Amino acid sequence: MAKVLGVDIGGTKVRMGVIDDLGQILYEEQIPTQIPLYPYLEENILRVLAAQPNVSAIGVGTHGFVDPKQGKVIYAAETLPGWTNTPVKEWLEKATGKRVEVENDANAVALAEAKFGAARGLDRVVVLTLGTGLGGGVLWDGKLLSGGPHGGAAELGHMILYPNGVKCACGRLGCSEMYVSGTALRRRIREAGLAITPPELFGNAQTDPKAKQVVEEFTGDLALVISSLQAAFDMEMVIIGGGVSEAADLWMESLQRQLKPMLLNPLDVEVARFENDAGILGAALLVLEQ
Ligand SMILES: [Zn+2]
Repeated sequence: MAKVLGVDIGGTKVRMGVIDDLGQILYEEQIPTQIPLYPYLEENILRVLAAQPNVSAIGVGTHGFVDPKQGKVIYAAETLPGWTNTPVKEWLEKATGKRVEVENDANAVALAEAKFGAARGLDRVVVLTLGTGLGGGVLWDGKLLSGGPHGGAAELGHMILYPNGVKCACGRLGCSEMYVSGTALRRRIREAGLAITPPELFGNAQTDPKAKQVVEEFTGDLALVISSLQAAFDMEMVIIGGGVSEAADLWMESLQRQLKPMLLNPLDVEVARFENDAGILGAALLVLEQ
């Protein structure tokens, strides 16, 4: 049975997991992200490999734009200083003597949901991860739609939703992640004059008209994003993950009601199956799938 290491690199933590070809997590750990990242990453991967001698390959999902062919980070914003242009695949293969593949972290999550999670067996799936930002992954005929000359394919959070809207970290105005993400939801709550957390917002929406309006506007924008994605990809299913999805039972009705008139064709909307494990499972799938 094949055993591989899946590594999920985020702005605050790095998760590592040893995973078999059935998707079972045999070992996992989490360490805080440290800058400079590469030497720290290599040191910790070598430590895990020394304790787990039968690992055959390493998959890495990382924050940022990635060229999956070269296994290189093309661009990582200020979340990971110095990470831009790091040839992760080349350096890690040299250091470990094992095959290494690298992808964007949202793409890795999409792969996990598509292969082991809510969309198991489907070929065309879009995964939206509503967390700090809006991560996107597109499974196209069973394969990840990724890469591109700038590593920017399926960066769905940077589709412009409102021209001249809120300024995004990418430098432009009105990107969808400025409206449809956990961070965006907190901004919307503040702007509505409410002093509550997103879970409290969803809980209050039944009784507080102000909270209800924030939820309606938020899910309305999510519906817009999904509608455009359907026109582009005609996917069988949309999966919504990230922190916001934990309260899905409180906002799904509002989303479905607003989405219905925007759809060209029927579409399944599901909540992500995996919470924290999706990143390491997806990273592992980069090297489990041939
Ligand atoms: Zn942007």
